Amino acid sequence: MPSRPILILGGTRDARDLATDLVARGLSPVTSLAGVTGEPVLPPGRVRIGGFGGTEGLAAYLVSETIAVVIDATHPFAARMSQQAAEACSRLGLPLLRLERPAWAPREGDRWSVVPSAVAAAAALPSGARVLLTIGRKEALPFFSRHDLSGIARMIETPDADVPLNWRLLRERPPFTLARETSLMTENGITHLVSKNAGGTLTEAKITAARACGTPVVMIARPPKPHTPVFTSTQDAAEAVERVLSP
Ligand code: NAP
Repeated sequence: MPSRPILILGGTRDARDLATDLVARGLSPVTSLAGVTGEPVLPPGRVRIGGFGGTEGLAAYLVSETIAVVIDATHPFAARMSQQAAEACSRLGLPLLRLERPAWAPREGDRWSVVPSAVAAAAALPSGARVLLTIGRKEALPFFSRHDLSGIARMIETPDADVPLNWRLLRERPPFTLARETSLMTENGITHLVSKNAGGTLTEAKITAARACGTPVVMIARPPKPHTPVFTSTQDAAEAVERVLSP
């Protein structure tokens, strides 16, 4: 008899890697994407795209698709989806695990200001700063509306807000190399890096480059997430899924 499907709440590289691992173990993952990226890189296994319609919609989906276990592998900043997953799973008594890369921590030589939000990050920048802005398109407006800032806004999608003339838009997807990040900062006279504390290795080169260049970093702290077992590696998460599914 085929095993009941496993729902991966995705939108991250970790989620794709987990789907690959689960398929290799003969399991049946369904990866869910929010549908915010125009041309997403699709994982192996089944994929569904678009919001569920809040906690109610997710709970209805979990029942109708006979999902056995949910793995929240969303980005550390996707707070709403994680909360809704916790509520829906708790209501149905379904196991919920989270796959989440550890947050970055400042090291010797780092010059971080830690702030709670993108709005606070924009407010923390000094007048005249030339910024490498590496946050999502939906959060660029507080930076673009400060006429005394300029720089490079790097994001996967075109921002919702118009890009002012003092900003250059770079539409790119990670990973980025250390050499690339260093030259991007030095050749463009970058004085400040703005980043979310995404963690993991995929986008860490910008943090290393900032350290090497002595560039101050405005680091947006992670939002709180619901209490649930957390795994930091794909393999550990996949093994936990196997344990949950074993009779
Ligand atoms: P969010 O604020 O937590 O969620 C907003 C709404 O988007 C949710 O209420 C849900 O809609 C829908 N949604 C989010 N993730 C979904 C998923 N995996 N499958 C189906 N629906 C989903 O999320 P967000 O910060 O906008 O992020 C959206 C997606 O982009 C996530 O999948 C996340 O992993 C990915 N991502 C986010 C960031 C970031 O910095 N926030 C960075 C990289 C990737 P309904 O209420 O209708 O179900």
